Amino acid sequence: SSETDPAPDVKASRPTGASGEAPAIEVRALRKSFGSLEVLTGIDFTVARGEVVCVIGPSGSGKSTLLRCVNRLEEPTSGTILVAGAEVTDPDVDIDKVRRGIGMVFQSFNLFPHLTALQNLTLPQRRVLGRGKEEAARVARERLARVGLTDKESSYPAQLSGGQQQRVAIARALAMDPELMLFDEPTSALDPELVGDVLAVMRSLADEGMTMLVVTHEMSFAREVADRVVFMDGGVIVEEGSPAQVIGDPSHSRTKSFLSRLL
Ligand code: ADP
Ligand code: MG
Repeated sequence: SSETDPAPDVKASRPTGASGEAPAIEVRALRKSFGSLEVLTGIDFTVARGEVVCVIGPSGSGKSTLLRCVNRLEEPTSGTILVAGAEVTDPDVDIDKVRRGIGMVFQSFNLFPHLTALQNLTLPQRRVLGRGKEEAARVARERLARVGLTDKESSYPAQLSGGQQQRVAIARALAMDPELMLFDEPTSALDPELVGDVLAVMRSLADEGMTMLVVTHEMSFAREVADRVVFMDGGVIVEEGSPAQVIGDPSHSRTKSFLSRLL
């Protein structure tokens, strides 16, 4: 009957922002102040599903604050942020539910020092997702294999190199089956010879189609892996575009001078 048959244009008439098609991240007119210091002064940008976006810019430009607003580790002063169509900035949003879909990897690895690598991965799965012991261990071993650390499951963080600890931290985030990964300078605390292994893991994640927002100073990574590069300075996005545009042929003098200082 006509009551059960869907209208032919039901899909076309679905409001934009229905969760199936919504961008991974949508940031509109975001402002953030700490007291009288305004560190984000009107940020607009979108990350599509499956996209890898690298954020570059000088220290103090607001990159970490931007990332932390996305999962509301910082409360935006004004503006709107949607993650997979859910309004993070809505005071009534189930923020824990939104956060479960977002993996975050920091400069400092933040592993539990008294737990083995395996236990670092199983604990949050059991506490947050309610997974059983066997299931959590199975997922943990799969994710440790993915970051090349199968043989380290019984090691404690202090027994691992910085690069290995960071790969455990990435595996821990992946064990939660995130739809989106945020990275805040994940290699900045590492000895130079350990950076490559971490970037290789991130590159393979990108190749698998993970949506990633990555704050980094690794220009060769941004050039080779990012779909889009965003340059921030002084709390605004100065320019964004393909890596070839923004890193290879920047149009703003602030971008040029930032890049020249990295050389
Ligand atoms: P970036 O990650 O680009 O280096 P941040 O987002 O960490 O920049 O910081 C931007 C500005 O905000 C800096 O001036 C910093 O000192 C300031 N800031 C960051 N967090 C806080 C805070 N919790 N309280 C006060 N000021 C802060
Ligand atoms: Mg930072």
